[in-house]
Amino acid sequence: MGANLFNAALFALMIRSSVQSGWLLLWMATLAAVCGVSLSAWWQRRGKAVESVSERSFERSAWYAGLLGAIWGIALMAYLPEVKPQQQLALAVVGCGMMCAGGVTLVTVPKASEAWVFTLTLGAALGLLRTGEPTYMVLTVLLLVYALVIGVAAQSAASAFNAGLLAEREAERQGQMVSLLLRDFEEHSTDVLWEIDRRGAFTHVSKRLAQLLGTPEGEELPQGLMSVLKHRSPEGAQSEGMLALKRALLQDKPFRDLLLSVKAGDASRWWSITAKPLVNDSGLTTGWRGVISDVTQQRLTHQRLAYLAHYDSLTGLANRVQLRERLTQALEARGTPPRRSAMLCLDLDNFKMINDSLGHSVGDDVLKLVAQRLQAMMRRSDVVARLGGDEFAVLMDDVRSDEEVVVLSQRLLQALNQSGEIRGRTVAIGASMGIAMIPDHGQTIDEILGNADLALYAAKEHGRARCEVFAPWLGERNRRLLSVEQALREALKRGEFSLHWQPRVSVAKWEVLGAEALLRWRHPTLGELPPSEFIPVAEKTGLIADIGAWVLEQACLHARHSLPGLAISVNVSAVQLMRDHFLGDVERALMRSGLSPKLLEVEITESIFVDDPATALNNLHGLKALGVQIALDDFGTGYSSLAYLRRFPFDTLKIDRAFVRELLTHHDARAIVRTIVDMANTLGMLTVAEGVEEPAQLEVLRLAGCGAVQGYLVAHPLPLVALHRVLEHWDHAGRPEPGEMPLSESSALSEVPKIERRYPRPASPSPG
Ligand code: C2E
Ligand code: MG
Ligand code: MG
Repeated sequence: MGANLFNAALFALMIRSSVQSGWLLLWMATLAAVCGVSLSAWWQRRGKAVESVSERSFERSAWYAGLLGAIWGIALMAYLPEVKPQQQLALAVVGCGMMCAGGVTLVTVPKASEAWVFTLTLGAALGLLRTGEPTYMVLTVLLLVYALVIGVAAQSAASAFNAGLLAEREAERQGQMVSLLLRDFEEHSTDVLWEIDRRGAFTHVSKRLAQLLGTPEGEELPQGLMSVLKHRSPEGAQSEGMLALKRALLQDKPFRDLLLSVKAGDASRWWSITAKPLVNDSGLTTGWRGVISDVTQQRLTHQRLAYLAHYDSLTGLANRVQLRERLTQALEARGTPPRRSAMLCLDLDNFKMINDSLGHSVGDDVLKLVAQRLQAMMRRSDVVARLGGDEFAVLMDDVRSDEEVVVLSQRLLQALNQSGEIRGRTVAIGASMGIAMIPDHGQTIDEILGNADLALYAAKEHGRARCEVFAPWLGERNRRLLSVEQALREALKRGEFSLHWQPRVSVAKWEVLGAEALLRWRHPTLGELPPSEFIPVAEKTGLIADIGAWVLEQACLHARHSLPGLAISVNVSAVQLMRDHFLGDVERALMRSGLSPKLLEVEITESIFVDDPATALNNLHGLKALGVQIALDDFGTGYSSLAYLRRFPFDTLKIDRAFVRELLTHHDARAIVRTIVDMANTLGMLTVAEGVEEPAQLEVLRLAGCGAVQGYLVAHPLPLVALHRVLEHWDHAGRPEPGEMPLSESSALSEVPKIERRYPRPASPSPG
């Protein structure tokens, strides 16, 4: 505005002699008024920082610049033709100056610049044209070209200015963002930033870094990074981590997660260092910037996981993984003469019972005690492991002889099979053991462990608290079991099963009372397999459920259609009886065949009472409710017979073949049979002796009061057709004669028990 007013004064002075002073004064006054408005607005806003400008004020500035330019243009248009040539020259210089200066000054407001240049140029051009001078026409064209150049230059200057402004604003925004993130990182992250110069001195020490390095807040860190770390490192500058850090810094290359162990008071911690070199424009390293992270927690977790991967957390013994690793080493470390080792597999005999009756915490303590006993007995070089549950294993490395192993194993078993004092009570502990020798009993880990396990099973079969060494036949037996198991899965589908029948005959009248159905299996390649071989496999695999249901149904169908009126007995395994579907199976068999339940007898063994007596009794009562007869098979070989005889009313008691076999040779067998018969008679049960092969046995049984017999003496188990033939030709009087009795025993046979019997006594008098 000052320049405007000054130029206007100059303008008026130069032309005042050639123009009317009234108009000139009016022009000056107008210009001064317009400038005055602007000046007063500036005066009012002076000192206040302008943060933003509205779109409207931009527009207003453009209008204002246009108005001011127009005032000058009008003056040029009016006075150029009027004044003398020198004055014209002065006006032209002032006009051009105003045009250029205004155009450039106003570049930050491009519209105002354009409006100013346009109005002023228009006025000047019209003024030149009004002179009518031909040279001035050329000047007019030149003037328009200048104006155009000024306009374009102002435009490009304006967009450069705008771009600059925007870039500045973006940089500022980013700057704010970075400092925000940095602050957040410093406050919340577990990582701490550091920066050092070329010589290793810290260039920026944040509060967190000071805390981490243990420097009191606000205090300068006089030493560099390396010397601070050296003081914290337990082994000084020579620790592995420090040496690695030194090497990394010398290489001028970024590095990650360098691990350093440091002291923190009495405790020790782990730091991980990551850094990048700071490089200047000429590619020289000027320092380092990086982070220190406290990774103690991760290290501890890592160490704990590594421990858990190799040790059993309850007992602290090695686990299966570690045992397998050591076993691999033992298998690989063969030399000349071959180094021998022994693999011992152990299993507690009564652990399930301890857990069930005394609780799991007592169970845990038993496992810990066993672990302690094992460790106390073994050498440091041996591996003592817990494989899971109550399974333990010992790898005895480098043993001299098999005898040494056996002697040591016996001692180990002795130590293990001693009751322990746990939580104030005495707990009986028992263990069995299987041994496999390396390399004799296997070339691979699985072979060795499998064979030691087979030996362990054999030890358990032969009674508890025993130790067995693997032998090749155990492996063969196992292979046979596996092939039987596989064949058994297909047997039912392929129709390989059949039933044989063995008649049961009353001792007194020598009548056929019934027949027992016995399962037979003929396999195309394995041949005829005895039930004693495949029934346990069927029970173990659960296949007994389907097989048993088939037997029940077949037996009932045969009885109804081929053996009318004859009572039949069907054997039922414990596993089968305990199943939920069992009663349904029996009912279905009866319904489909139409057999009267009275004619069906189910034979069970005492083993059903071992695991779950309550369910067993429940199912037996269910059977009874159906009207089915129930027999207790193999009586006398089981565990707890007498108690159950009182709790369940069996219809029949089958005396086991073992007693019958010894009747003629052992006094006690005879006494036992007599007692069983008396007891059964008192309880109102029919007694059936199994496996009667000789007439003399029959005679003793008759004298003892036994109700019925089964055995080769009467008939072998027979196919249905053969049984028919036997029944057709049955001779009631054909009871075999006693034959010759052993002399020494004959006197004993005369002792006929004097107990009242409910079953018919034999009619013939007792011999001798
Ligand atoms: P078990 O029920 O005690 O059957 C008697 C076993 O003694 C039968 O053996 C029979 O052939 C045999 N035997 C009969 N009389 C004599 C004899 O005078 N002398 C000798 N030495 N043996 C005789 P088998 O058929 O081999 O059956 C063995 C066991 O298999 C049966 O004993 C029974 O417990 C089981 N079993 C048989 N069939 C089935 C079945 O269908 N289901 C179930 N769960 N078990 C069955
Ligand atoms: Mg039987
Ligand atoms: Mg039997």
